[in-house]
Amino acid sequence: MSSVVERLRGDGPVFSVEFFPPRDAEDEQVLWRAVRELEPLDPAFVSITYGAGGSSRDRTIRTTGRIAQETTLVPMAHLTAVDHSVAELRNVIGWYAAVGVRNILAVRGDPPGDPYGEWIRHPDGLTYAEELVRLCRELGDFCVGVAAWPYGHPRSADLDDDTVHLVRKLRAGADFAIAQLFFQPEDFLRLRDRVLAKGCETVLLPGVMPLTTLRMLHKTAELAGVPVPPHIAAKLERYADDPAGFRAAGIDHVTELCERLLAEGVPGVHFYTLNRSKATREVVARLGLVPART
Ligand SMILES: Cc1cc2nc3c(=O)[nH]c(=O)nc-3n(C[C@H](O)[C@H](O)[C@H](O)COP(=O)(O)OP(=O)(O)OC[C@H]3O[C@@H](n4cnc5c(N)ncnc54)[C@H](O)[C@@H]3O)c2cc1C
Repeated sequence: MSSVVERLRGDGPVFSVEFFPPRDAEDEQVLWRAVRELEPLDPAFVSITYGAGGSSRDRTIRTTGRIAQETTLVPMAHLTAVDHSVAELRNVIGWYAAVGVRNILAVRGDPPGDPYGEWIRHPDGLTYAEELVRLCRELGDFCVGVAAWPYGHPRSADLDDDTVHLVRKLRAGADFAIAQLFFQPEDFLRLRDRVLAKGCETVLLPGVMPLTTLRMLHKTAELAGVPVPPHIAAKLERYADDPAGFRAAGIDHVTELCERLLAEGVPGVHFYTLNRSKATREVVARLGLVPART
């Protein structure tokens, strides 16, 4: 079974993981250690993000291809429209197909240097993820995912506008969506309700970062685009000078968050791993999302 959506629609909840392409040989070793440690736990898929420029993009293609060819894992490659003509995008999609990648996460990407800067479309390129979804669909039998925003994308006028555009890209041919980070289960569940209220039934996967350091808590807030809710900050920040205490409390917090989501019927949980596996392995073991033999 090589399609992400087939795995997400299978029996029972699953987990999946996200990596970024390694920057150098040392990074590569760290990434491959994580890949090999996670492989026996049978994640539904592993995804590799797509960087802002040339060499990191080559590393995404190479790493995703290696996962397809040298492991038992189902790979998913991210792709963005940043600084690409349609001809170049066709080329990258062709490379993905050539190295055995059948799953693509089609995201628009941000302007290089300043994520909140003006989006300048490549003269022969695309403007929105919706168009990238169509392009992937047009070029082959890919399983295509898109990004979803529990608090709305920072560029969206409001949550309704955000939902309208999410539903448009799903209807353009996306099979599933992965949600950006959020703090409370309700934040994700409200997103799910908004999509359903537009009459769109899709597979919506929550994205979660195992919280092991205070830095990660702040990174989560930055990526989510909202401040840490005061009760969560109070619970975790009291361990600011106690790294072991923070780690234990952070893993407990994330496990409870996932338990609630699973009780609400999510198809699985997608972990933003930052290329390490230990914390993710701990959480998925506590959630019972690993095969019995491991
Ligand atoms: C799970 C996940 C994975 C990611 N992976 C990567 C990665 O690998 N590499 C990377 O560089 N970035 C990645 N990102 C970040 C993402 O590229 C940026 O956040 C980007 O700003 C938005 O991407 P999008 O696909 O949601 O854009 P879009 O869906 O195109 O939306 C962008 C904005 O335009 C609006 N919009 C959409 N369609 C229309 C329309 N037709 N008319 C008017 N407005 C419209 C939307 O409401 C939104 O406000 C990822 C994000 C997530 C959540």
